Amino acid sequence: MEKEIVVQKFGGSSVADIQRIKNVANRVVSYKDKHTDVAVVVSALGDTTDELESLAFQLSKDPPEREMDMLLSTGEQISCALLAMAIKELGHDAISYTGRQVGIKTDKTHTKARIITINDKRIRRAFKDNKIVIVAGYQGVTSQDDITTLGRGGSDLTAVALAKALRAKVCEIYTDVDGIYTTDPRIVPEARKIKQITFDEMLEMAFLGAQVMQARSIEVAKRFNIPLHVRSSFSKEEGTMIVKETEKMEEIAVRGITCNKGEAKITICFVPDKPGIAAKIFTEISKSGINVDTIVQNVPHDRLSDISFTVPKTDLSKTIRVTTAIGKKIGAGEILEDRNIARVSLVGSGMRSHSGIAARMFKALADNAINIEMISTSEISVSCIIQQDLADKAVRSLHKAFKLEAI
Ligand code: ADP
Ligand code: ASP
Ligand code: MG
Repeated sequence: MEKEIVVQKFGGSSVADIQRIKNVANRVVSYKDKHTDVAVVVSALGDTTDELESLAFQLSKDPPEREMDMLLSTGEQISCALLAMAIKELGHDAISYTGRQVGIKTDKTHTKARIITINDKRIRRAFKDNKIVIVAGYQGVTSQDDITTLGRGGSDLTAVALAKALRAKVCEIYTDVDGIYTTDPRIVPEARKIKQITFDEMLEMAFLGAQVMQARSIEVAKRFNIPLHVRSSFSKEEGTMIVKETEKMEEIAVRGITCNKGEAKITICFVPDKPGIAAKIFTEISKSGINVDTIVQNVPHDRLSDISFTVPKTDLSKTIRVTTAIGKKIGAGEILEDRNIARVSLVGSGMRSHSGIAARMFKALADNAINIEMISTSEISVSCIIQQDLADKAVRSLHKAFKLEAI
């Protein structure tokens, strides 16, 4: 009989120190028995990735992306080796591998590479030898043998992709909260744990800033219908299942609230109001691999208008560089930047059939004297860009206004 395979991913806070690594080793070992093989994906210890990133930024405002990947990928190599040692101490056999060693091939988009293939042969051989396999998350290698990383939070993606490649029975994501909540419990202590959430809702929440899962990992889970179980590495409690369809008959209008403080707003002033100008600007920006979000163009005065848009803060220097060059070419004015913004969003599949959600959101923000600078909507979300120092207050008031603590 073929053994069942389980993929378990442990995030940075779950392996932050030696005691926690021992805790993870115990959990992994208790799962492994003669009917189950376990592949474990680990993130770097605690805040290692942030610390490595900050070293790079002390040397350069715009560090070369290939070297950034060389640097950031080292964090996960440390944690996977330590976990393998901890498991061996418990009398079980384990082996650690880097992304390259298990054939995680990616494209060449350094710092946010896409996985092309995984070669599962080496892992399956190790399973045959009854070993627990530990894989370094967040990394892969290009066809030219250059190390890449999969974007922040990318160990989630490694776990989901491995679950697909190994046809695993479950993919468990262990973290420092015991599931997906109606909003970040660090901001709203009354937030409620959600029992089940759809891929679509989780994807939207992740894209809009819910840090708990990487958006791209949910995209892959959705594409291959791999149910995910998000749970705590510190308790045995059931967490949240992320699935294709939830059991609730009636869809809830607002499932959750997210907050993203990782974006910046750019404004190109006095842009000539002519056909083709927006196309020119955004073609140049996208050629540089920058993901632009909400775009607003003001009403033109004297055939000139301002165009504002948001980008991830990590792409800000690059965006300023590109927009300054285009601005000169098209005869636009000053380029302004604002790093002190936040995106606050409501998410829920039920928005498709409930009306008036956006109006209630704007009213709740207005009642709390919070000014909205930009608005964007999708089929299942509404987002407002506001000043960052008001973001937590906004999330708390929206959580209350939509009675999410009572779900
Ligand atoms: P890990 O290190 O395990 O990858 P992360 O720090 O990436 O963990 O994600 C877990 C954190 O995500 C939680 O501590 C929590 O503060 C935050 N978070 C944000 N939004 C939510 C949400 N809706 N539900 C649960 N946690 C959330
Ligand atoms: N260590 C990486 C990060 O902090 C990847 C991960 O934790 O998923 O983004
Ligand atoms: Mg994470």
